[in-house]
Amino acid sequence: MNKCEKCSYEDSNNLKRFDKLLCKICAQFSPDNKEDFEKYINEKLDWQTLESFRKFQTNKNFIGMEKKVKQGNVISRAPFGYKIENKKLVLDLGKKLKVQKIFMDFLEKDISLNKLSKEHGFSVNGIKKILRNFTNIGKVKFNGQILQGNHEPIISSELFNKVQNKLEGLGIK
Ligand SMILES: [Zn+2]
Repeated sequence: MNKCEKCSYEDSNNLKRFDKLLCKICAQFSPDNKEDFEKYINEKLDWQTLESFRKFQTNKNFIGMEKKVKQGNVISRAPFGYKIENKKLVLDLGKKLKVQKIFMDFLEKDISLNKLSKEHGFSVNGIKKILRNFTNIGKVKFNGQILQGNHEPIISSELFNKVQNKLEGLGIK
């Protein structure tokens, strides 16, 4: 069943942390350190004591994450063109120019993705990933949503949209 392993609350929205199912409330307060997490799980709670939190919790967790996204603290791996410094996404100036060139080449040259990839030293999938990445226009994908990030964009939304249209027009998936 979908029982929270701390408070035994049953909910299909319970989520996994360190392989344990937790309800939203217990997950929200759970420690990030695995050892502390085990101790936390072992201190059982009665789900009824949490009802008052549950009632008013709504989307706080998500809002908290959104705030983190805005502060630029969520991304764990930097896409090409960026690097991570002090947990924040910053431009990798050398690679930034390359990303801009890839976008411009794809849009303006009559060139296949295959050739474009070879010219820039990427696999076709690698190039597609770059051309489709919202990070390049300063946004962040989180929880299936595109949110405004807190990092510097590499290209304009206009160029990005044109490239998306061309990809679509060529039937490139
Ligand atoms: Zn719980």
